[in-house]
Amino acid sequence: MGVMSFQRRTTPGYQPASDRYETMPYRKVGHSGLKLPAISLGLWHNFGDDKPLQTQRDIVRRAFDRGVTHFDLANNYGPPYGSAESNFGRILRQDLAPHRDELVISSKAGWDMWPGPYGFGGSRKYLTASLDQSLERMGLDYVDIFYHHRPDPETPLEETLYALRDIVAAGKALYVGVSSYGPELTAEAAQFMAEEGCPLLIHQPSYSIVNRWVEDPGEDGESLLTSAADNGLGVIAFSPLAQGLLTNRYLDGVPEDSRVAARKSFSDDMLTPENLEMVARLNDIAQEREQSLAQMALAWVLREQGDYGVETVASALVGASSVAQLDENLDTLDNLEFTAAELTAIDDIARDAGINIWADATASRVHGD
Ligand code: NAP
Repeated sequence: MGVMSFQRRTTPGYQPASDRYETMPYRKVGHSGLKLPAISLGLWHNFGDDKPLQTQRDIVRRAFDRGVTHFDLANNYGPPYGSAESNFGRILRQDLAPHRDELVISSKAGWDMWPGPYGFGGSRKYLTASLDQSLERMGLDYVDIFYHHRPDPETPLEETLYALRDIVAAGKALYVGVSSYGPELTAEAAQFMAEEGCPLLIHQPSYSIVNRWVEDPGEDGESLLTSAADNGLGVIAFSPLAQGLLTNRYLDGVPEDSRVAARKSFSDDMLTPENLEMVARLNDIAQEREQSLAQMALAWVLREQGDYGVETVASALVGASSVAQLDENLDTLDNLEFTAAELTAIDDIARDAGINIWADATASRVHGD
């Protein structure tokens, strides 16, 4: 007993790198006082019970050591559902608890979580219960950002938004946002919430070189990027690497330990000859820039598109299955600049890769009424 407590006292805890704030740019999120790291880490895949906790811990520690202050979760990340939040909660308790105020932690509800009519959608019943469960799993009193994860055609928009407002009022989230909402629904939701005195902070859409739906005009003629900027929302782009397509992962076949091989959300149907040829050509441009393809894809999402911190994407939300991938992705920050010729060359090659598996959710509800 005495030995154990002696060991406990002398085992060195995690000491984050003292230079962790020296290289990461922090970018303003829309019309708000919050800044996010240019690159944030998502825990969708790679943090479930099917992955070693030590690898997860190494990735999270490394991220924090390099200035990644934002970790993005959702109720159903795993597998099984909920396990990414439980695992992240463990890592928080072990390593990051003293640094809670240096972190922006997000969660979401909207996709399927538990059986029956109250475990999916946008009802007050679902969102409120789900966030309580997420907080319990992570061992937190509050999340920094809580999202409605996808539009729900069966719930009045106001019900979802009142639930988000009340979650903020109850102190369970500091900010709220939406994910995969189209441009019209985003504008309607933002205007409603502004009147409620609880502005929407952020929109989280999929966006990458080969999935540019956020640039397309919607029914009212505005793109999602414009709608978000006009309504004061910042944008954090998810799957900026197209789940791994925009990396060197599939240049020479399908590695056994890859997301495609795991048959999760990224199907080998998406590795068409056209897509692979396109990726190889994009890789050539990346090499000319002396970057990896992943680095060029992340820099592209973060490129300047309008008023800095307003129309430009605030943060690229990446996934990583190893510390080496994370390091490579963070090294993107060494070169975020593009020449006009490089951007044109990318546009000449890039086609929609047919990988926006969230498009039906977006289309399920265009307007709030
Ligand atoms: P992603 O960054 O496009 O893809 C990540 C995957 O690409 C990794 O798991 C890894 O695949 C591969 N990869 C990453 N870096 C690499 C590198 N340097 N070299 C080679 N391969 C590399 O993003 P994502 O994981 O699809 O999504 C990121 C986050 O966005 C999620 O964790 C989640 O937080 C969020 N998200 C939100 C929604 C939503 O509906 N709001 C939906 C999806 C995602 P392997 O596993 O094969 O190594």
